[in-house]
Amino acid sequence: MPDVYRKSSEHAYPTEGSLVDSFGRKAAKLRISVTDRCNFRCDFCMPTHPIWLDHKEVLTFEEITRVASILASMGINTIRLSGGEPLVRKDIEKLVIMLTKVKGIESVSMTSNGALLKEKAAILKENGLKGVTVSLHSLKPELYHTITGTKNMFERVLAGIEESKKAGLKLKINCVVTRGCNDNEILDFAKLAHDSNAIVRFIEYMPFDGTKIWDVERVVSGREIIQKIQTAYDLLELPKEYGSTSKVYKFKDSSKGEIGTITSMTEPFCGDCDRIRLKADGKIVPCMFSLDEYDVKSLLREGASDSEIARSIRKNFWSKSPGVETMMKTNVQMIHIRPMHTIGG
Ligand code: SAM
Ligand code: SF4
Repeated sequence: MPDVYRKSSEHAYPTEGSLVDSFGRKAAKLRISVTDRCNFRCDFCMPTHPIWLDHKEVLTFEEITRVASILASMGINTIRLSGGEPLVRKDIEKLVIMLTKVKGIESVSMTSNGALLKEKAAILKENGLKGVTVSLHSLKPELYHTITGTKNMFERVLAGIEESKKAGLKLKINCVVTRGCNDNEILDFAKLAHDSNAIVRFIEYMPFDGTKIWDVERVVSGREIIQKIQTAYDLLELPKEYGSTSKVYKFKDSSKGEIGTITSMTEPFCGDCDRIRLKADGKIVPCMFSLDEYDVKSLLREGASDSEIARSIRKNFWSKSPGVETMMKTNVQMIHIRPMHTIGG
């Protein structure tokens, strides 16, 4: 978004009401990275030799819940837990209860690699989790293990998906598409959505890989994905929901399945972005495509009041970057912003 759309001065942030940036975009959704750690090593996300945060640097459940309730008082109503892998954080189901009790929070969901879902799905549902998005980047076990840097996980993840359905969690499948790797499985994933009434979201490969192997040539655009699916299925594009990061398509026949594309790279959706992110290290990130991040952990640990913390968040959120297109024009190479496992997608 060019600067000309800026609603008012960079310094005139509001001290009450909704959490809003200087382009008039209101925050409604909070993504919390509860840990930078993970039991997988997906090549598009994790560095080869990750250096984990020290445990004392990571926000406690109480600190996370306090930030969430301060944000809820400014209009945030939806939370997604991510990571790293949220299920490797000990007792994560307890955080789910704590967050669902925050006044104003209507939905808590999670994005997970699914490896520990078989054990955790039922308790997560019982504790108030609405839904889980499971990342599944290939339907071929061997390729799945190559992409995720794991062994023997494929069947486990499928079992986790089944357990989540059984528990009554709303389920979505996320697939990051990379050219020359899994792009020949697009139709297989579409068939999965069609035949089993699943919700499958194809994500464009973003330059936040820990190993810095990202290359524009490896990005498969949402448009190309949909064109490929339309060679086999008739699709109907649904109107885009405000703030949604995906374009959603239904099948024109009687299937209840759904296809989505998250076109962050080729058709970014920054104009109605309603997200704010909280990293495990206690930094607030208004825009994942910007280097800007702001520390709330020090405020929490130095005894700041809720209103002092709220004021600091408001001030920093006000200067949220316009988004992807602007970043593409800067000298900052997006590949160097931060690896995805630290921000949670
Ligand atoms: N560990 C969990 C998982 O894999 O679902 C949650 C954290 S992961 C960082 C969140 C989402 O980001 C996942 O769907 C993952 O596939 C996606 N992701 C990771 N690296 C990506 C990249 N470079 N480009 C696009 N999506 C990416
Ligand atoms: Fe772990 Fe998720 Fe990153 Fe894969 S995408 S390495 S599962 S955090």
